Amino acid sequence: MTQYVTPPSDADDRRAVEPVICYPNETLPKSDLALYQNALDTAETVSVVQAAPREACTFQAPAGSFFRVTSVEGPQVGDLNLWNARDLSERFYSGKTRALHGTHVTIGERMWSSFPHLRPMATIVEDSLAWYGMDRFGGSVHDVIGTRCDPYTGNLLSDVQYHHCCHSNLTRALADALGVSLQEAEPHVHDVLNVFMCTGFTRDTGQYFMKASPVRPGDHLTFFAEIDVLGALSACPGGDCSASHTSDVAQCYPLQVEVLRPAEGALADWQSPEPNGYDQSHGR
Ligand SMILES: [Zn+2]
Repeated sequence: MTQYVTPPSDADDRRAVEPVICYPNETLPKSDLALYQNALDTAETVSVVQAAPREACTFQAPAGSFFRVTSVEGPQVGDLNLWNARDLSERFYSGKTRALHGTHVTIGERMWSSFPHLRPMATIVEDSLAWYGMDRFGGSVHDVIGTRCDPYTGNLLSDVQYHHCCHSNLTRALADALGVSLQEAEPHVHDVLNVFMCTGFTRDTGQYFMKASPVRPGDHLTFFAEIDVLGALSACPGGDCSASHTSDVAQCYPLQVEVLRPAEGALADWQSPEPNGYDQSHGR
């Protein structure tokens, strides 16, 4: 909220200072997209699961395989969580991914993992919505700026008890996949990649906005798994997120996740990335 504070005499000069990019990313290890694309061309589907509307599904994608999220039946956005399948404490870090790649991600960009690992968990290799770019509202697709819709915020703002927010869907799906209680699973659920969701920040108030997703059945987002990945995808109760979420009002559709394995030798001498090289001595 704007406070009425008298501007200093040089306010315009201060505002006119040019921004600098916080994290120039030219020195990030390059992803070999040609290699990945060639491997994808040889790949065969090994499993297919669907997240039912207002539910989540889980999947395993071993290092060196691909996973593809596809819109089926109707426009629908998905909330994606990723973990290292061997160590759930290493998980997708949406904030650092945003700092490195920007508010929305597309082909060639990575899903980075939490500290102290900070390595690519997955690389985007196909994005049928890459044509969308950024619209006149500052909106774009596949964001790492939202969190995940959750029942706590719904309760805070609207005093409701709603159980099919992405946070709860992911919690139930992960609990079932691990064979643990909801209480044990919940702390592993984290901020998501909003697959197919069209979002931005309003220019005047800086508020997070959403608008009807441009996704249509057949649209897909395909990832190369850089490490052994356990994934969970929720078909958001917001549907295409044109109007509302955290309720049963929106029309919702399923989402499909397919895991694909490339042919033997198709990845040549590709190797799964090592954890981050910082020595963790923190100055002591
Ligand atoms: Zn959601």
